[in-house]
Amino acid sequence: MPKYPRLYNISNQQHQLINSVGSQKDAGWEWSFSWRRSLFENEIRMAAKFLEELAQVKIQQKRPNSWVWKADPSGNYSTKSEYRLLMEVTTGAEEDRNLVELWNLKIPLKQTVFAWRLIKDQLPTWTNLRTRQVELNDSRCLLCNSLDEDVTHLFFYCTKTLPLWWESQSWINSSGVFPHNPKYNFLQHENWSAVGVRARRWKCWWVALTWTIWKHRNRVVFDNQSFYGSTVMDDALFLLWSCSRLWRRVSLCTSAIGLPISKQSSRSRECS
Ligand SMILES: [Zn+2]
Repeated sequence: MPKYPRLYNISNQQHQLINSVGSQKDAGWEWSFSWRRSLFENEIRMAAKFLEELAQVKIQQKRPNSWVWKADPSGNYSTKSEYRLLMEVTTGAEEDRNLVELWNLKIPLKQTVFAWRLIKDQLPTWTNLRTRQVELNDSRCLLCNSLDEDVTHLFFYCTKTLPLWWESQSWINSSGVFPHNPKYNFLQHENWSAVGVRARRWKCWWVALTWTIWKHRNRVVFDNQSFYGSTVMDDALFLLWSCSRLWRRVSLCTSAIGLPISKQSSRSRECS
């Protein structure tokens, strides 16, 4: 039984194999769906969730009766081999050499993969769904209901998220306009601090905040919840604090990036 029966019923590709509803491009697997009619609003949300789930699945060109994970000589998938493959992709491109540090951050792998997808513009934002042939009646950002939702707007320029970065910048006495491109936005802090540890922890904060923004955005989309910047900030700080346990020195987690103690997450204060 299909997991998304409503989408399945209006699909023109009900009996097709995976390799006929997408293709392998230079940037990775790209889906190409076909529907019998335009999707209704609730179906668009289903499609977004469906694509979000699909994004977690690594599609490989497959032989007739078996799956083969080419990144491992055994043909079997493993997280380790995926990590190694992504590292090779990262280090292989000259323009992305600076992003190697992303993979060296001491944060959970799922957050690293998320940040990588954000930087590579592979998250299923409304704009990206459109490019994947999902017809949308409205592609405006649901946080501000003003401009189209793409990664640049959603994470860095939306009126609901930009203030979060302003506040973050104030912690390290910095100001200025964020670069539009997510990659350069991530890398912009390279010159803010000559101290490597401090710069790395700022990058951890960058991942924690973008990750939390995405989680809260999905609650707006899928659960009709409201988006509160203060809650996002608190959850991001808690996430950073949680990750800091990996660094073994909890007290350094926020002070190392210049965050005043008074700004720390209330939950982190309770736990520390
Ligand atoms: Zn917005």
